[in-house]
Amino acid sequence: MTKIRTRYAPSPTGKMHVGNLRSALYEFLIAKHEGGDFMLRIEDTDQERFVEGATEIIYRTLEKTGLIHDEGPDKDGGYGPYVQSERMKTGIYLKYAKELIEKGEAYYCFCDKERLASLKTEVVEGKEITVYDKHCLSLTKEEIEKNLAEGKPYVIRQNIPNEGTTTFHDELYGDITVENSELDDMILIKTDGYPTYNFANVVDDHTMNITHVVRGNEYLSSSPKYQRLYDAFGWESPVYVHLPLITDENHKKLSKRSGHSSFEDLIEQGFVTEAVVNYIALLGWSPEDNREIFTLDELIKEFDYHRISKSPAVFDIVKLKWMNGEYIKAMDFDTYYEMAKPYIDEAVKSDVDKKKLAEWVKTRIEVFPDICALIDFVDKLPDYDIEMYTHKKMKTNAESSLKVLKDLLPILEAHDDYSNDSLYALLTKYVEEKGYKNGYVLWPVRTAVSGKQMTPAGATELMELFGKEETLKRIRTGIELLSK
Ligand code: GLU
Repeated sequence: MTKIRTRYAPSPTGKMHVGNLRSALYEFLIAKHEGGDFMLRIEDTDQERFVEGATEIIYRTLEKTGLIHDEGPDKDGGYGPYVQSERMKTGIYLKYAKELIEKGEAYYCFCDKERLASLKTEVVEGKEITVYDKHCLSLTKEEIEKNLAEGKPYVIRQNIPNEGTTTFHDELYGDITVENSELDDMILIKTDGYPTYNFANVVDDHTMNITHVVRGNEYLSSSPKYQRLYDAFGWESPVYVHLPLITDENHKKLSKRSGHSSFEDLIEQGFVTEAVVNYIALLGWSPEDNREIFTLDELIKEFDYHRISKSPAVFDIVKLKWMNGEYIKAMDFDTYYEMAKPYIDEAVKSDVDKKKLAEWVKTRIEVFPDICALIDFVDKLPDYDIEMYTHKKMKTNAESSLKVLKDLLPILEAHDDYSNDSLYALLTKYVEEKGYKNGYVLWPVRTAVSGKQMTPAGATELMELFGKEETLKRIRTGIELLSK
């Protein structure tokens, strides 16, 4: 059996989008599931779209997500170069393009911009493309040689007959047959000598022994043209897996406007890498059971590309947040604290036990920035409405709370051990002596010290965090507010 070889072939044109990361992940999983090799190839033939720094983002993201490539520009595996602009310099693309010309499957085209502009256009997937009229196909050998000798700019086009059909196979979509008349004579080599993606991907996937190609289904419509190239060369085409579209909640293509379309944006928004990878794995793929939480190793074990769905996958930020929360809950404390600390530092400048705060919120957040709102009462008592002292179940209201707080103030003033245990014992003793219910006392105390309806910890824990002075200050403020 041939060894599985997959490739992630990004174009360095900006951020790493969720769709790109999904392709990389699935390519990685297909290879690793079978003990194969996962390769990185940089597709930089479109110099106009090249963005400075984009290649670094690709490396950073693959490393951070654990999608470690076995071969690539930085790891020679004998199939290099792994960057298309470098491959071009070896002459590989021109060599194969000339082979196609020899076979009558491609031809030189010397048409200038003006002539091309006068041709019919067609809108294909939102892009306007020129339908080339095969004008240069009828040039004689002599005319071609003369043009070349004069250094006239040219492109090399694929020659697709107007009659007949072309069939290719996709693992998910099955056999797809199209009329050749619907296929344009696409450019294989551009005037600048660079190959187009359309040509380079075929030459490279073949010469780099790639067995499985996973990519977005926007490439589905071009695949018959690639198939014709494979057939013309007499090469076996790889297994194709075209992935479903990823949409936002409104079923529109996930776009930059959503604010969470790129991996690094998500990380900046406080998502955990492992949760993002886990979530992305489920954008179009599902296991046999309804399991949702997977480590990367578990994904490698479970991933079967035949279970990829053809229907669009909805990127549901609510679901991702839930999953992220699960990852945070399961994290070991030190790793978690390192990630939580910047948010705690931002929300709290006073000298309190920040580890304690981190502990309290660990099970209550979905993303790290959630921390800030949960502890916003620490530095400064918020302005709050005394309505908050009213709690039906605890049988408290403004009046009862004022009485309790006033009663407690001297007791708290006289008490020096502000540890949680000691405070808890003190308050329960008071509750028992008075014959109250716990909540009748703890509710007003917690309200007074936090100024909030919901807090990540109970009354006495908050008091311990604040210490005696700050606690008394807040109790007095409560009494003041309730006395008005
Ligand atoms: N360079 C292409 C892209 O970034 C790769 C498509 C493919 O995987 O073949 O979209």
